[in-house]
Amino acid sequence: MMLAILDYAALDPQRRREALARPAAENRDELLALVRATIARVRAEGDAAVLDYAARFDGGAPLNLKVPTEERVAALESLDARAVKALRRAIDNVRRFHAAQLSPPLRLETSRGVFCERITRPIESVGLYVPGGSAPLPSALIMSAIPAALAGCPRRILCSPGTRNGRIDPVILATAQLCGIDEIFAVGGAQAIAAMAYGTATIPKVDKIFGPGSAWVTAAKQCVAQDAEGAALDLPAGPSEVLVVADESADPTFVATDLLAQAEHDPLSQAILLVTSRALAERVRVQALEFLGRLSRTDILERSLARSRILVVPDVETAITVSNLYAPEHLILHLREPRQYLPRITAAGSIFIGPWSPEPMGDYCSGTNHVLPTYGFARAYSGLSVADFQRRITVQELSPQGLANLGPTASTLAGLEGLDAHALAVDVRLQALSSKESASSEYFEGDGAAELVRRLARPEILAMRAYEHAHWDPRFERLHANESPWSPTFDDDPLNRYPEPQPAQLVQALAELYEVAPDSVLLGRGSDEGIDLLTRAFCTAGTDSVVTCPPTFGMYAVAAAAQGLRLVEVPLLTHFELDVPRILDAIDGGAKIVWLCSPNNPTGNAMSTASIERILDAARGRTLVVIDEAYAEFSSAGSWCQRLASHLHLIVLRTLSKAHGLAGSRIGTVVAAPAVIALLRKLIPPYAIAASSTAEAWAAVQPGALEVTRARIATLLRERSTLADGLSRAPSVRKVWASDANFVLIEALDAAALASRLRDAGLLVRDFSGKAGLGQALRITVGTPEQNARVIEVANRSATR
Ligand code: PMP
Repeated sequence: MMLAILDYAALDPQRRREALARPAAENRDELLALVRATIARVRAEGDAAVLDYAARFDGGAPLNLKVPTEERVAALESLDARAVKALRRAIDNVRRFHAAQLSPPLRLETSRGVFCERITRPIESVGLYVPGGSAPLPSALIMSAIPAALAGCPRRILCSPGTRNGRIDPVILATAQLCGIDEIFAVGGAQAIAAMAYGTATIPKVDKIFGPGSAWVTAAKQCVAQDAEGAALDLPAGPSEVLVVADESADPTFVATDLLAQAEHDPLSQAILLVTSRALAERVRVQALEFLGRLSRTDILERSLARSRILVVPDVETAITVSNLYAPEHLILHLREPRQYLPRITAAGSIFIGPWSPEPMGDYCSGTNHVLPTYGFARAYSGLSVADFQRRITVQELSPQGLANLGPTASTLAGLEGLDAHALAVDVRLQALSSKESASSEYFEGDGAAELVRRLARPEILAMRAYEHAHWDPRFERLHANESPWSPTFDDDPLNRYPEPQPAQLVQALAELYEVAPDSVLLGRGSDEGIDLLTRAFCTAGTDSVVTCPPTFGMYAVAAAAQGLRLVEVPLLTHFELDVPRILDAIDGGAKIVWLCSPNNPTGNAMSTASIERILDAARGRTLVVIDEAYAEFSSAGSWCQRLASHLHLIVLRTLSKAHGLAGSRIGTVVAAPAVIALLRKLIPPYAIAASSTAEAWAAVQPGALEVTRARIATLLRERSTLADGLSRAPSVRKVWASDANFVLIEALDAAALASRLRDAGLLVRDFSGKAGLGQALRITVGTPEQNARVIEVANRSATR
């Protein structure tokens, strides 16, 4: 009986199993023997055997086994415009959905110094098979050709039987042309599979074979896949099937056509309907049988509908449970709220949701792949995707530190398994390291700054070519930079010329000032530019995170937001000290940069050396630690610049804005390992430093100017004490925090009121009272003695209100 209706609840377990049983596979021994003979003959005789089989089984011996280019081109030209448009649209959607599956390489530091990666490589050579039969199947070609191209498989060949007197159907040739397949062979059946698996004089050998086919083709694919010298296969094959789940909301016409669309594939196809209403079951059946009279493939339909069933189930929950057991290739949900059930579906090749998503949309053109696991294989297999055309290769690299840390674990596990040589391979290296470690701790730094940059920088920036400057060479007259030949009328300086990008003399002078090598120095427009450059060079939008320790300088967070990064805020502790354990957690969480400001703005304190050392230690090799020393000259804490050589991941920011009085010139310095500087040089705009700024900075670092600066710093420090003392005695001030900078942070009784009185007296200070962790805080920059005296006076006065 066609589409028998059964009451699922009334069936005993055995009958239930029978109701959901798939058509039994026919006895294949004879078929397999014939297929093996075909394969053996193709391996022995090559093209001659292929041609002979083609003449006998495919529809005629092809004139050319390899289809000439002209035939492909002519096939596409012969197709009517509507057909070409439809093919192009399908190809476009399939390409879009599959392009989205391409995944970026994976890289992870699983333990410190232990780097694990996964990279993908396309399978070199793939064979795509499209069967012949009564009608051409261009969709079968699209579903393998497009992902193969996206995966980057260099060789993609097509075999299809020459059903038209040795010629492939023009629709297939035209589709191949549209999919960029240019090696096509007019051969089908088991002989095509054998030829692709082992190669002949004409047909190249491939690594993996894709595509549907007859029982012969399927058997041949299985045979060659079992042979290491043969070719892998795409998916285990079986007859196509659909399972439809419907509740009372379903339209019986839609459901009936879904069953028929499946059943017309093949006499062995199966369509199963799980429906919550007996009345609906009857209507669907009547409707399906009515349509049957109008359809062309009646013979196939009648045979497959005899294997198809309608099961009336008590509720949708039961239907979903049954469906998961059956694991259908196609699952169609005609339910009032189909999405609600999606989370409960555990096994299916492809799911079609709601009344407007009939299966042919996925078969042809929505974008999903129609090569799906059938016959219950959906329990363990998935449909075709780009990954099926790729190899995924894992990579690992351990630094000496990484092996020192994790090696003993491997050695212990090797011991558990009794594999001495495994343990030995690790232990000899651990021994080598322990002797090297005592000889030189540099060995552990051996990864090198260049390696660190390669690992941490944004891949786009690494790959990018720097802008080519109009080079500076005073020996030549400059007709290479589209400059004006004349200097401006108001100035004799050569302002008509673009400045030297990183003026060498100034770089040298600042390197001497900060006691580092010139190739560790990058000049930028203030430290602000350094913050921006570091963020952009190393952090990927949407992926990376950076750590800041508020209250602190606001630009770190601004740069992070501008770059689309996650900001991990680890607030300072009660005495404005760093919360080291939480910073270490953030480093473990993969943070790219830890921003430390010492002395810190606005709290004024220098961070403890021990804290910074612990952070540097934990961050080594995986996170950059930037120490912003904008206020270093006002502190006795000493600069971290001298620690650069032993900490490749340390970056220091310095500026001429504060101690040197040059905020208007905008000159700041990034001090870091040369590899970091080289990376930032690629990113900084071509002529960032104005000629006038270079001249001003140059003047400021001459010995005479430096002497004046030192004297001014000494004065400022005395004034800082005077200001702090005066304020600490003022009744409107609760507390004055110790400062290592050119400002003091105070806690007022009422910050807004004191700030307002100071403003009335013509003095602006920064009110931080709104900021978390700062209470009634005001930050007051140390000014001239006269200004400081006025500040103290106002602070004393305002208490008497
Ligand atoms: N870092 C800190 C901690 C600052 O306080 C400032 C300016 N207030 C800067 C950097 C920016 O300085 P520059 O003028 O060098 O851009």
